[in-house]
Amino acid sequence: MRDLHYKTGIGMTSQRTRERLMERLFEEGIRNLHVLEAIRRTPRHLFVDEALSHRAYEDTALPIGHNQTLSQPYIVARMTELLLGGGPLDKVLEVGTGSGYQTAILAQVVERIFSVERIYPLQERAKAVLKEIDIRNVVFRHADGNWGWPAYGPYDAILVTAAPPEVPAELLRQLADGGRLVIPVGARDQVLTLVTREGDDFIHQAVEPVRFVPLLAGAISS
Ligand code: SAH
Repeated sequence: MRDLHYKTGIGMTSQRTRERLMERLFEEGIRNLHVLEAIRRTPRHLFVDEALSHRAYEDTALPIGHNQTLSQPYIVARMTELLLGGGPLDKVLEVGTGSGYQTAILAQVVERIFSVERIYPLQERAKAVLKEIDIRNVVFRHADGNWGWPAYGPYDAILVTAAPPEVPAELLRQLADGGRLVIPVGARDQVLTLVTREGDDFIHQAVEPVRFVPLLAGAISS
């Protein structure tokens, strides 16, 4: 795993609180050590507004502007763990960059991420924070992620952090054979779903109830 180099001063202050968060996620059932280590190292306070930074290491969802939210750390860890399944991943597509926190966790446990976001200012901010903490294995696209990112597919895994009423067909198409798609599905009652591709078959597994913002259509510039 890569080392994160923080600017002087950042990182040290929240070291203890991050360790406590990691311990809490372990108690809640997160067992993948790479994921726990990524949570321990990643300064979540940089991904939220300064006014909220004192709450950054609580296991809670936080607003990131534009009516969007950063998921609670448990969900970020759970989705990453599910995505990893048994083995290492090379190419991963992420839909819904948002603050970039989930991207940062994922970037430490997979080779390369292709991350799509429909709200341009969120994407720009995420890019800047990831650069600041020296995460370099992510490329970004401002677009409607319902259509995936066909140019780099198929992907070993796809992670979606906003909920569509049903799994977009185009994402299934861009999933490699043997690949894993983790996605919240549903309108009011959403279920975190793991889809595994076996040739032309897609095996759907319901994991647990969740609450995500909706996966919307079209990209917007402000
Ligand atoms: N994973 C993010 C939080 C996601 S909130 C984080 O760690 O902060 C959901 C994100 O999905 C929002 O940023 C929202 O703009 C984005 N989104 C919703 N519909 C989308 C679509 N069709 N294509 C790409 N991004 C989308």
